[in-house]
Amino acid sequence: MVSAPRWVGIGEVEAAVRSKSRWIVNKLEASRERRQKIEAARIQWQDGATFPFLGEQVIVVLDPRHDFRETGGMLHTDRETLPGVTRMTLHIGLPQTAQPSQVRDAVQAWLMRQAKRIFTERLEHYAPQLGVQWRKLTLTSASTLWGTAKTDGSIRLNWRLVHFRMAVIDYVVAHELSHLRVMDHSPRFWETVKTVVPNYPELRAQLKDQPAPVW
Ligand SMILES: [Zn+2]
Repeated sequence: MVSAPRWVGIGEVEAAVRSKSRWIVNKLEASRERRQKIEAARIQWQDGATFPFLGEQVIVVLDPRHDFRETGGMLHTDRETLPGVTRMTLHIGLPQTAQPSQVRDAVQAWLMRQAKRIFTERLEHYAPQLGVQWRKLTLTSASTLWGTAKTDGSIRLNWRLVHFRMAVIDYVVAHELSHLRVMDHSPRFWETVKTVVPNYPELRAQLKDQPAPVW
């Protein structure tokens, strides 16, 4: 429904409807583009699949000769393939005949282990700078929430953040730790974030525009 105040002439109402429909078309267009971006980010889980890790593309190599039960996988950084080009591969101890779900689960297990290690390290880096104490880190996998913090010092972070470059992870870590000082999103809260991550608006925008890959 498009309602108009009584004193507006019919020509003005028509103009308003026209501009409103342009607005609707733009909204639909934006949502279609977003769906396409998400679809393009969907990963085909097989030998040679690529996924982003800390903002870099990593290639999955199924490598049944090795047993990675301890670590889930082994990351290789190969600088020799082409001069100046760094190629990162994640070797997973699965045969070529592995099901896509097995490949996905193995990569996810490896990423979650990396997430725990990286997030703990960044929490330990920023907590003293903000003068706060965190107590417990829990990894989550909600698709719409990157992190939460509670007054008791418990922090929940989405493991999928490891897809993004370190600066983005740092922003989320600093954001949640700042909540241990200011629980709301008041100007005082953002001032607190800014003391440790001065360029947070740019990082926050990146997190909003770039969907994480679909699993
Ligand atoms: Zn917040």
